[in-house]
Amino acid sequence: MSKTPSLKDFRRIVVKVGSSLLVDSTAGALKRDWLDSLVTDIAALHGDGRDVLVVSSGSIALGRAVLKLPRGPLKLEEAQGAAAVGQIALARAWSEALGAHNITAGQVLVTLGDTEERRRYLNARSTIAKLLEWRSVPVINENDTVATTEIRYGDNDRLAARVATMTSADLLVLLSDIDGLYDKPPAQNTDAKLVPVVPRISAEIEAMAGASGSELSRGGMVTKIEAGKIATTAGTHMVIASGHVVHPLKRITEGAPCTWFLTPANPVTARKKWIAGSLEPRGALHIDAGAVRALRSGKSLLPAGVVKIDGTFERGDAVIVRGPDGGEIGRGLIAYDAADADTIKGLSSSDVREILGYEGRTEMVHRDDLALAGE
Ligand code: GLU
Repeated sequence: MSKTPSLKDFRRIVVKVGSSLLVDSTAGALKRDWLDSLVTDIAALHGDGRDVLVVSSGSIALGRAVLKLPRGPLKLEEAQGAAAVGQIALARAWSEALGAHNITAGQVLVTLGDTEERRRYLNARSTIAKLLEWRSVPVINENDTVATTEIRYGDNDRLAARVATMTSADLLVLLSDIDGLYDKPPAQNTDAKLVPVVPRISAEIEAMAGASGSELSRGGMVTKIEAGKIATTAGTHMVIASGHVVHPLKRITEGAPCTWFLTPANPVTARKKWIAGSLEPRGALHIDAGAVRALRSGKSLLPAGVVKIDGTFERGDAVIVRGPDGGEIGRGLIAYDAADADTIKGLSSSDVREILGYEGRTEMVHRDDLALAGE
C-alpha cells in the first residue's frame, strides 16, 4: 500500500479504545459525549457494510469511579472487584450508544488463554463470527474479574491485536492519548517528530517507543509496538491515532496526524501460511473424491466426506487432509478430537448431533482454517 490508506479501504476493523479516553477520572464518570461521537463514526462504517469490533478498556477505571475508591495503586482483588462493577456500566454504555443507531452490541470477555490456545481460540472466534454475521458489534474486554497476573494480558493493545488476527481483521485502530509514534519521547523533547508511516517494525522503530503510558491506561508505546508486531505479522494493518478529539475515526480519514503500521501480507494468506507452515500436524483425515472437489472449490470439509482418521489429536490441532490416492490436499485445524472425528466420519451433519449427544460444529475443518496444498 503506497498512499496513506483510508478507513473505507478495509472490510473488518477492530477499534481499541483506551481507558483514559472513556473515563474522566476527575469527574468520576464516563465521557458520554465523546463515546457518542465515536459511535457515530462506527455506525457510518457499519452502515457502509464494514464489520466493526470494539476492544474497550475502562472497566477498572470506571468501577473505581463508581465505587469512589481513593487514588493510588489497587491490590489485585480490588482491581478485580472494581472491574466487576465497572464492566457492567461499560457494557451498558456501549449497548446504549450503539443501540441509538439501531446496532446491537454483544459483550465478549476473554482471557489470555482464549486467544492463545487454539482450542479455546476456535470457540471465541466462532462466537465473534456469529455476532458479525448478525451485524452486531462485539464489544470485547479482558475478563479482568477472573484473570490473575499469570493468565492476563494486562493491556488491551496486545489483546486487540490478538482479536484482530483471530478474526482476520484487515485493520486495527488503536485510539490512544497520543496521536502516534514519535521519533523520540515527545514529553521530554519539544523537537520530537511524528512518524506518519512505518513500513516495517525495525529495531530503530522499537527504540523510538518510550516506555511510559498515561496514568489510567496500562499500555505505553512499547505495548503498542508489540501490538503492531502481532498485527502486521498476521497481515493486519494498524494505525495509532489520538482519541482526544471528537469523531476520532472520521478525523483519521480526514487526515489527522497518526501513525500507520503497514503489512505486506493479507490476513487470510498469513493465517493459512501459519497453518500450513508452523504447526506440527497431529494426524490425518482421508477424504473422498467429492470432498476433494468441494474443498478445491472453496468449501469447508464436512464429516460426510471423511473416510478414515489417523493419529491422536485434540480439537484445534493441525491435521493433514489426504485425498483417495493418499496425496496431500492441504492442512487445517480440526474442530473435533480424534475420537469424535472417528465417530462422525461419513455422517451427514444432521446425524452428528444425535450420535455425539451435543451440537458440534457443522464443519470438520472450516474453510478459513484450511490451507490447500499449492495455494
Ligand atoms: N482491561 C482493562 C480495563 O478494562 C484495561 C487494560 C488497558 O488499559 O489496556 O480496565
